[in-house]
Amino acid sequence: MGVLISNPDKALWPDAGDGEPVAKEDLARYLESVGAWLLDHIRGRPCSIIRAPDGIGGEQFFQRHAMSGTSNLVELVKVAGDRKPYLQVDRIEGLAAIAQIGGLELHPWNCRPGEPEIPGRLVFDLDPGPDVPFSKVVEAARELRDRLDDLGLIGFCKTTGGKGLHVVVPLAAERRKSLTWDVAKAFAHDLSERMARDNPDRYLIKMTKSLRQGRIFLDYLRNDRMATAVAPLSPRARSGATVSMPLSWTQVTSALDPKRFTIRTVPKLMEKHQHGRIIRTLNVRSNRRSDVSPR
Ligand code: ATP
Ligand code: MN
Repeated sequence: MGVLISNPDKALWPDAGDGEPVAKEDLARYLESVGAWLLDHIRGRPCSIIRAPDGIGGEQFFQRHAMSGTSNLVELVKVAGDRKPYLQVDRIEGLAAIAQIGGLELHPWNCRPGEPEIPGRLVFDLDPGPDVPFSKVVEAARELRDRLDDLGLIGFCKTTGGKGLHVVVPLAAERRKSLTWDVAKAFAHDLSERMARDNPDRYLIKMTKSLRQGRIFLDYLRNDRMATAVAPLSPRARSGATVSMPLSWTQVTSALDPKRFTIRTVPKLMEKHQHGRIIRTLNVRSNRRSDVSPR
């Protein structure tokens, strides 16, 4: 991609789950191989990055703004209410530039591409408390999928590369009056609240960490103008070099193991047409049932 990677052998993850470290060059090559798919989800959206120049064991920075020395392969975008421009990655070379500065995670806004004020997708973040088995998170995602379906909306599931799951709902562009984040957030709140009310032993929508014991926090607060969520196919700065992996609903079963999706394994999986197709449908412009067949 024409970007010089300094210290290419520097290990950023000590172990990708296979006993082998992931070096900085491996990160750049990973981003190159999945870049075309990944870019569909970050292009045109302000995008924060988590940098860990010395690897996941070292210091980490959450960076929203451009800094002096920011590569000109990365776009800068002005948003209302902030004098300093935000980072945005619109081209594959920009991903290499992010790897070069030790950017391990990509966290875009969920606006419509090119329109930072308009909601482009909802993200429901399912956060299990300690001692919640992962199979319960899978059940929660499926229940949410069904509730969305009842309302005529299509939800897609991805692993986070961490402990929970994300259910993503692409939003149609309205012709006359644009959707606002107030409306989108209220919708996400009401749906999550209803789900928690119907099953208070399983779910809660309050932030309070101490209440999460044994339950799943339905974090609807990702749905706001400046709130971010990790991008599909972004690596995570966590042990095992896991990736946020888009799934088909047939994969969202008790057998699902998010640890299997790593910087090492995901490029080959993406080459199989199945995932390539899924991730394209994740970005559909409209959410009409006739446009996609999610199951
Ligand atoms: P998990 O499944 O383990 O919960 P996750 O991606 O949902 O994974 P977190 O890494 O806890 O959860 O992050 C929650 C959200 O908060 C992320 O989507 C991210 O965009 C945002 N975030 C993460 N770190 C920061 C930070 N330092 N400052 C601001 N926002 C952050
Ligand atoms: Mn989460």
